[in-house]
Amino acid sequence: ECTSFYRDTWVEVDLDCIEENVKSMISHLSKEQIVIAVVKANGYGHGDVQVARTALNAGASYLAVAFLDEALSLRRHGIQAPIIVLGASRSEDVNVAAENNVTLTVFNLEWIIQAKERLDKDKTVSFHLKLDTGMGRLGIKDEGEMLEVIKVIDESPMFHLEGIFTHFATADELDLSYFHAQFERFNQFLSLLPYQPKLIHTGNSATGLRFPEKTFNAVRLGIAMYGLTPSTEMKGLLPYELKEAFSLHSKLVHVKKLTEGEKVSYGATYTANEEEWVGTVPIGYADGWIRKHQGAEVLVEGNRCEIIGRVCMDQFVVRLPHQLPVGSRVTLIGTQGNQTIGIDEVAKRLETINYEIPCTINFRVPRIFL
Ligand code: PLP
Repeated sequence: ECTSFYRDTWVEVDLDCIEENVKSMISHLSKEQIVIAVVKANGYGHGDVQVARTALNAGASYLAVAFLDEALSLRRHGIQAPIIVLGASRSEDVNVAAENNVTLTVFNLEWIIQAKERLDKDKTVSFHLKLDTGMGRLGIKDEGEMLEVIKVIDESPMFHLEGIFTHFATADELDLSYFHAQFERFNQFLSLLPYQPKLIHTGNSATGLRFPEKTFNAVRLGIAMYGLTPSTEMKGLLPYELKEAFSLHSKLVHVKKLTEGEKVSYGATYTANEEEWVGTVPIGYADGWIRKHQGAEVLVEGNRCEIIGRVCMDQFVVRLPHQLPVGSRVTLIGTQGNQTIGIDEVAKRLETINYEIPCTINFRVPRIFL
């Protein structure tokens, strides 16, 4: 939701890129395989409702989120496509899921027994069963427990087992031994099933890109839908080009000339060596543009310009090549002229993964959709 209308800082989300990335994955898969568009965390910071609509129009047929609240928000915005909550929901919230036609993940026996006790008489719920084949996070590890969960579901006319899935820990790495072990383990589980549910899925973006034949009949497409490569190791291994959808912009709100020896920002950590022009940019750590960006580059007038002094809560200062007008565009992530600062560059600078960058530019920065 947009909360800022009167500020010179914004994110641009190019929905054509999202559309193209979804279509590319669909063409990469076989006809029987579907795309589940992963729009948790406000669509990885891109805007969940807009990304969801774009992905569905592009041919995705299911949506995935992490929490029930995220699914309810999509429903409130009129999205009627099937939605699965991949994370743990509380068993007492099973009625809310039923009322809103939201598919839940079942990940242990105790949970499904409690959900059965708590579900109101006339309601029905669909589940996907989550198997832990080596991620060690959410899911059933034991064959006996899996079969007991299925028994509870099958004995309950108000429950429907629509899917079964697992998640790979290393699908984006060069060494695939652990990936293959997880795949084998999943197949062992499948061989014990009394019947095959409609949707069997293993794949995140990395798996879908590299091993579409190992994803069974659906790919849970997250990071690659946003045009980002799942890992730096995978850079040379992409079967098609990814289109980065997210960019971050602001404007100079104050431009001034420093004389030699003058200082900038908290702690007075930056000193002008000579006469120089600097500009104030209205974005700071309260927006997710964290203090670690001190010393990094942003684009102004197509030039790479250094962030000088400490990043404040709502502002930072940039050194300019020469005097520039107030209102000049500052691109923190994206392209100006022939210069691009991509999300991967920013992630490297912050010693983290690309996933974290758009997610942490928070609600205070409005999203504009192109
Ligand atoms: N499936 C599950 C269970 C996930 O937790 C996630 C995201 O972390 C995804 C799929 C999407 O993964 P990716 O963004 O790497 O495509």
